[in-house]
Amino acid sequence: MAMKTLVKNCPFCKKVVEQRAYAVWGRQPTEEDKWLFGTPMKLCPHCGKLYIDRDMQELAITGPRKQDTAVVGPASLRLGLMGGVLGGLLLALGQTTLALIAFGVALATLVADVALCPTRRRKLAAEKIASQKRLSDPDYARALKRAGYDIPQEYLDGKKEEQK
Ligand SMILES: [Zn+2]
Repeated sequence: MAMKTLVKNCPFCKKVVEQRAYAVWGRQPTEEDKWLFGTPMKLCPHCGKLYIDRDMQELAITGPRKQDTAVVGPASLRLGLMGGVLGGLLLALGQTTLALIAFGVALATLVADVALCPTRRRKLAAEKIASQKRLSDPDYARALKRAGYDIPQEYLDGKKEEQK
C-alpha cells in the first residue's frame, strides 16, 4: 500500500483549495482511487467562485467501488496477512510471545474492519440519499451534465423523484 498526495488548485485563482492523501493498492493509481463521494460543486475559499471537482462522484449515479463495500478493506487485509506471516515466522524462530503479539495485531485489524463495516455501509446509504436529493433539482443535474458527468435523463427532466 502506498499513500499518494493529491493537491488541487482553484481553476480560477490557481490557489491550493485541497490537499489530501489517498491510498493505492500495489499498482498504478487510477482515477477511481482519487474518488470521494459528495457534491462535485465546490466554492473556492480564496476567490469565492464555484468550480467542479471531477474527483467527486454523486453516489446516486456512480455506484460504490469494491473497496467501499468490502467487509474487510484491502488495507486491513494486507495488514492482517502481513501480521499472520510475521507471526508464523516468529513462531518458527521460537519467539512465541512476539508471534502471539503479531497474530493478535493481525486479528484485531481484521476484527475492527468487520465491526466497522455496518457503519461504513450506513454512511454510504446516507450519502446516496443526499446525492439523490441534490440531483432531484434539475438545474443541479444539468450543471453536472454540462461539466461532463453522465447524468441519467430522468434527472435532467426533473422527473426522477427522491427515492425513499
Ligand atoms: Zn479561487
